[in-house]
Amino acid sequence: MTPKVAPIRAAIYARFSHAEGDSDSVDVQTRQAKKALEANGWMLNEAYVLEDDGFSGREMLRRPGLRRLLEAAARGEFDVIVLRDLDRFSRSEPSRVLGELQKLADKGVQLWSYLKKAFVRIDEEHALMTAFATYGNRQEAVKASGRIRDKLLDREEEGGFTSCAPYGFLNRRRKPDGTIGEFPHKGTFSVVVRHPEQFPVLPLIADLFLRLGTYNAVAAELNRRKIPSPAGRHWAAKSVTNILANPAYRGKLVRGRTVSCEQGGTLSRTDAPEQNVRVYDHPELRPDWDEVTLACIDAQMAARSRVTTWGPGRKHLSSSFVKCGLCGSSVSITSSSRSTSKAYCCTKARSKACEGIGYRAEHAVDAAVRAACASVLTDKILARVSDTIRETFDVRRRIETEEIERARLTRAIATAERHIKSTHELALDSEGVERDHHRVSLRDQLARLKDLQMAAAKAEASPAPTNWVGHSAPTVSAKPFYVSFEGSARSCRPEALCNPFSPNRSSRSWFPKSGSCVNRTRPLNDS
Ligand SMILES: [Zn+2]
Repeated sequence: MTPKVAPIRAAIYARFSHAEGDSDSVDVQTRQAKKALEANGWMLNEAYVLEDDGFSGREMLRRPGLRRLLEAAARGEFDVIVLRDLDRFSRSEPSRVLGELQKLADKGVQLWSYLKKAFVRIDEEHALMTAFATYGNRQEAVKASGRIRDKLLDREEEGGFTSCAPYGFLNRRRKPDGTIGEFPHKGTFSVVVRHPEQFPVLPLIADLFLRLGTYNAVAAELNRRKIPSPAGRHWAAKSVTNILANPAYRGKLVRGRTVSCEQGGTLSRTDAPEQNVRVYDHPELRPDWDEVTLACIDAQMAARSRVTTWGPGRKHLSSSFVKCGLCGSSVSITSSSRSTSKAYCCTKARSKACEGIGYRAEHAVDAAVRAACASVLTDKILARVSDTIRETFDVRRRIETEEIERARLTRAIATAERHIKSTHELALDSEGVERDHHRVSLRDQLARLKDLQMAAAKAEASPAPTNWVGHSAPTVSAKPFYVSFEGSARSCRPEALCNPFSPNRSSRSWFPKSGSCVNRTRPLNDS
């Protein structure tokens, strides 16, 4: 891998992570890279000045700039990627980074660090040095995130506001003299102030909820008044629920509920252990809801709460298979006094957040879903389904049989011990032939108890499997695949089904992910 001769086509890549905070901004990096590129006499491919602002280097999959860069490199659109240093490219696991570098090298693309004025080399012994460098970069990233976490924790303990302000509030800084405004972070304290337009909506939501009684009615009224939702669009019932149930609006800020974890080159958030959850008092977040109002809201929410079960006992076949063709939301069943049959409609139609697909008769939609399913359920798939169900029942039967046996043994041991105790007492109280008779009985009972105890120990030693071996459990996916309806169509059409067995379906799932839709289905924005 020797440096190439001109003309060399170059791309620029810059990344800045606010959490790492030890690098120049993307603008500075891009400017410096352009200077380095000119100095080397390379030709810049203007389409590939790519930046990832605010992305961690440990994230490899969901970094849009990097993805575009790697795809373009694979197509051979440039020969050199100019960047500040290797850590801008990635701070992921060394093997993962070296793998990506090898793929680039195979396509004849090299990384040029303008800071070191050198190529990042992975040929021969250079591979070792590069591996050390990637390891160092990664350690640095891990340390940096630890530092940030400690710093945030400190500020939270001091009563600072380290996250994005909730709806109705704005993030501001407070100077030591008490002035509040948009000041640089240094020497100032993070606070929240009331948002002039959004804050009055909070008491309005409580008032509307207590008056109208349902989340949908509140959302519909807010939409009618043309008040933008927290996302700047239409209100949905869920956004109203989120506000009413948010502990922040009761003066309690809950932090540390989720934790970031790195897996397969991507960072995702999972639920944190309970002891990591911290609650801070922030009375300034309470939107003038007095105790009586809060109690009324709580009572009304409790009255409206329903237990959602995702078990196999679905009441309406299509509610898990069908999505609104206009907005991509789920559909739910409705009934009216004007019609004898039930109908599906868009869930956002009730809050007037979507014009909806109208009302589609349940029997017609279900028939279409059944017809569409029939076309994809081949003999092979049906055989697999029945095999897995049979296996599941076999395992369950075994578990249940063993549990019954263990319970029987426990009961038998207790009874035997009781009998032994009473026979022992009888033997002590008796004499002569009677005593001998009790002694024989006692020996028999002790032998039986020993047998029972051995059987119980054997049953305990081979516990039944608590999960399914070889197969994933045949769970019914909450979002299997979707039928989408055109706004103008009067009845549903089986051909509007997505292709449920496209190659990109998840291998672990029986049903494909929603992204594999090919026909008539709009991109699902909210899933
Ligand atoms: Zn819709």
